[in-house]
Amino acid sequence: MPIATTNPATGAVLRSYDPMSQEQVDAAIERTDLAFRELRRTTVAQRGRWLGAAADLLDAERDETARLMTTEMGKTYAAARAEVTKCAAACRFYAAHAERMLADEPADARAVKATRAFVRYQPIGPVLAVMPWNFPLWQVVRFAAPALMAGNTGLLKHASNVPQTALYLEDLFRRAGFPEGAFTTLLVGSDAVERVLGDPRVRAATLTGSERAGRSIAQIAGRELKKTVLELGGSDPFVVMPSADLDAAAEAATTARCQNNGQSCIAAKRFIVHADVYDAFAERFVANMAALTVGDPMDPATDVGPLASEGGRDEVHAQVRDAVERDATVLCGGEVPDGDGWFYPPTVVADLTPQMRMWSEEVFGPVAGLYRVSSYDEAIEVANGTAFGLGSNAWTTDPDEQERFATDLDAGNVFVNGMTTSFPELPFGGVKNSGYGRELSALGMREFCNTKTVWVGRGEEGAGAGVGAHSE
Ligand code: NAP
Repeated sequence: MPIATTNPATGAVLRSYDPMSQEQVDAAIERTDLAFRELRRTTVAQRGRWLGAAADLLDAERDETARLMTTEMGKTYAAARAEVTKCAAACRFYAAHAERMLADEPADARAVKATRAFVRYQPIGPVLAVMPWNFPLWQVVRFAAPALMAGNTGLLKHASNVPQTALYLEDLFRRAGFPEGAFTTLLVGSDAVERVLGDPRVRAATLTGSERAGRSIAQIAGRELKKTVLELGGSDPFVVMPSADLDAAAEAATTARCQNNGQSCIAAKRFIVHADVYDAFAERFVANMAALTVGDPMDPATDVGPLASEGGRDEVHAQVRDAVERDATVLCGGEVPDGDGWFYPPTVVADLTPQMRMWSEEVFGPVAGLYRVSSYDEAIEVANGTAFGLGSNAWTTDPDEQERFATDLDAGNVFVNGMTTSFPELPFGGVKNSGYGRELSALGMREFCNTKTVWVGRGEEGAGAGVGAHSE
């Protein structure tokens, strides 16, 4: 894949880059390793000041950065501005809370026959971050903010279609005050990942992307015995039960499916509706979807911009065509519009069967699958009946059902009467083929920490021995 900025609204190639040479990549790894030795000796308070400065830069440069993201991957300008704001808030959150998250955790010293015992969280070293284009700033910041606060350094291999955003991120952390090399962008293709992850100075990797990329990175990391966090695809269920507020559910369903032009891992993709309210919900949902304005992502009147690549749009349309050819019903959308740019209309497809690609595959565009179920149990069966397990939504005002959904949905999160989103305060991640490990919250920060047990005894004869003591 060429490393280039191509405007998805026009198809025009605006800027291309030569990939970095092996020598340049090696030099970058050397710099990040040196930076790690420096960064790990700084205090959390100092790193917090730098991260706070990054937040201020993000706020000050919001419009320019948002325009860049819109140009590189087609999200609406309004959504891009909101993404910058979210990134600044996450930086401030980690700057404010890292001290507490990284504080030593005392243990019961008597129980372990020590005078003092505690857990200390320490950085592990340079971490490779392989990132996708769909939230080109947020995906990186949600890794970088906790990683840098913990004292790790970051090597970013961003998606090849967002090189300017990738370079902006390196520049951002440098200008904020972090040591040279603490956060470095590698302008390389995915073929360079194996060598970077194989370098002994690189201690771990995090990937947000497709299942295919996840399998590849997990395989390399397995061979190299390196920790990974994988945030992969999803085909989130959105279950609507009879007690739900149907207007609110249909409105949330529309936003959940079409936010980011339908290209979000945690977009609701399968709308599973109880037969008692199926027609009433479908009517509202289809009306909302059909009413969305598709067009120039810089225009404030636009709800849905282009998909990020021509290949991505072709894939989405092929999934819809496959369903139609097997007798699914298109309730709105479903046709590729004429003209430049990789636009696709909000689309709702009903009467899906397991033979259709849409039933089991992730659809990365503004296309919703509608499923009719006749009971709670059937809703759970359909909701959990995929290889994915990232997010999930349930709409019900019945407290018992709310509790049951929270337990029964097989996913990394359950949002009841609201659409799935992410917060720095809450862990984020998936189960099954949606990946493993968690980002955000204290858990996200500790994924790339050495959780070190410290045991201090009196050093007298017999200390630490006795009943129950054993060594491995
Ligand atoms: P992708 O093809 O996997 O690309 C993601 C990143 O991985 C890019 O930097 C890409 O580089 C790199 N990559 C691709 N194949 C690789 C390989 N074999 N080895 C190493 N690196 C590789 O994903 P995408 O299709 O662009 O992004 C959409 C996918 O990401 C969807 O499945 C979506 O659900 C998922 N996603 C998940 C989350 C989450 O938090 N769980 C969030 C956002 C997106 P190049 O660009 O150079 O190919």
